[in-house]
Amino acid sequence: MRSKIVAGNWKMNKNAAETEALLTELSAKLPDTQAEVMVAPTFVNLSSAVRTLESSAIEVIAQNMHFAESGAYTGEISADMLLSIGVDTVIIGHSERRAYFGETDEILAKKVKAALAKNMRVMFCFGEELEDRKSENHFKVVESQLKNALFSLDASDWGKIILAYEPVWAIGTGETASPEQAQEMHAFIRKTIADAYDTSVANKVSILYGGSVKPGNAKEIFGKPDVDGGLIGGASLVADDFVAIIESI
Ligand code: PGA
Repeated sequence: MRSKIVAGNWKMNKNAAETEALLTELSAKLPDTQAEVMVAPTFVNLSSAVRTLESSAIEVIAQNMHFAESGAYTGEISADMLLSIGVDTVIIGHSERRAYFGETDEILAKKVKAALAKNMRVMFCFGEELEDRKSENHFKVVESQLKNALFSLDASDWGKIILAYEPVWAIGTGETASPEQAQEMHAFIRKTIADAYDTSVANKVSILYGGSVKPGNAKEIFGKPDVDGGLIGGASLVADDFVAIIESI
């Protein structure tokens, strides 16, 4: 009833030629799957990625965008620019944007609204840091991240939202949340949404897990009832690994 999704977040990796090569290999090896498969190359390679994947089932999505429509924001990219090249899904709130580029819940709320105003789909990322988990504040932190950025949306907006729970301590560290930890948090997220809206909104939203998902652990994590797929960093840069992860769903 809700979409299964496997998305590759390429972050600041792959130049133009490497992007072309990886996408060509990926679309040749793409297995038959019920999941939506997405890749997020860097901005400079987005247009060419859309062209390369024109007749492929793989969707090209963006890693970020600005909340302003246009104007004096040197180095930034607008929703309209993404739409104009055929990209209508955007990752917002990745922990690296929060940590290195000062993106607060308030900024992220504006970005989410700006994307939705243009009818884009938003893959919203959030998750606690290691200290939060150690101090057993992880549920509280996740709840406030959701509330601050998303809970002023209308229920009807949620059809355009994909969630990606990514505990910061598991991103790029080789350390994954156990399948039980992922399920526990995903169930909490769904309940939090049901409390803020209703169970129909909560049951329809896809909640992806992200953080050191690899071919070796994907099946177990994806097997949990509230885990609807994954947002994959490092392992999405190797075609065979990404394909194996897609096959695990
Ligand atoms: P990772 O990154 O798979 O390399 O841990 C996940 C992410 O940051 O989306």
